[in-house]
Amino acid sequence: MEYRIPLIAGNWKMYKTCNEAVDAASRLVKLVSDIDGVDIMIAPPFTSLAVVSEVIRDSRIDLGAQNIFWEKEGAFTGEISPPMLISSGCQYVIIGHSERRQYFGETDETVNKRIKAASTSGLIPILCVGETETQRDDKKTFSVLDKQVKKGLESLILDEHHSIVIAYEPVWAIGTGKTATQDQVQEVHSFLRDMLENNFGNMIAKATRILYGGSVKPDNVSELMALPDVDGALVGGASLQPESFSKIIHF
Ligand code: PEP
Repeated sequence: MEYRIPLIAGNWKMYKTCNEAVDAASRLVKLVSDIDGVDIMIAPPFTSLAVVSEVIRDSRIDLGAQNIFWEKEGAFTGEISPPMLISSGCQYVIIGHSERRQYFGETDETVNKRIKAASTSGLIPILCVGETETQRDDKKTFSVLDKQVKKGLESLILDEHHSIVIAYEPVWAIGTGKTATQDQVQEVHSFLRDMLENNFGNMIAKATRILYGGSVKPDNVSELMALPDVDGALVGGASLQPESFSKIIHF
C-alpha cells in the first residue's frame, strides 16, 4: 500500500522581520510539539532563514526558502545560491510560485533551472503550478498544467535520494478566500499523479507528494486532506499566525 507522509508547508511571503519571524517560529514549535506523522515546513524570507533555523533546530519543523538561483556563486547581485540556502539550514525550496511568475518574470525555463540546481544540491524543490481564472474558464487548465510540469521538470532525475514536491495552486484561489472544490482539486491532483507516472514511472508517482494551495484555512483543511491524491497543503496567509497554522497542521 502506498503511503506518503503529509506535508503542511507555510509560505510567509514578504512578511515578518527577523524578530517577528523568531517569535512566530518559537510559538509554532510549542504548538506542534505533540505532532507525529506530519511533516511541517516554514518558508520565511531569506533574511530570517538563519535565525529561524536555530529556533526550530530540535523541533519537527523543517525550513524552506521561497526562491533559489541556479549558480553556486558569482557576480549575480541580489541572488541566493543553493549552498547559501543549505548553510542557512534549509531542506526545502519553493520554486515557480505564481507571484514569482506574475511579478518577476519567472518562466518554465528558469523554473526548470532552479529545480535542477536545487535537486542536485540536495534540497527538496516544491514546484508550484496552477492555472489562472481565465485559463480555467477557457478550459485550458490541463494544457497549462501539462506544460508547467513537463517543462519545469525537464531532464530532472528523481530517485530515492532526489525527490520533489508538487504544489497545485490555482492562481484564482491564492489569497482570494476562494478555494477550489473537492472535485476540482482531486481531478487535477490525479491528473498530476498520472503525469508523474508517465514521466518518471510508477514508484516515483506513488512516492511524490502533491500539495494543494489556495486559501487553505483551519476550517477547510480536513476536507481537502481527505482527498486521495492530496498529500498536504501549501499555506500562505493562514501560516502567518502560529495558532491558525497549528490548527491546519493538526487537521
Ligand atoms: C500561497 O502563497 O502559496 C498561498 C496558497 O497563499 P494563500 O494560502 O494565502 O492563498
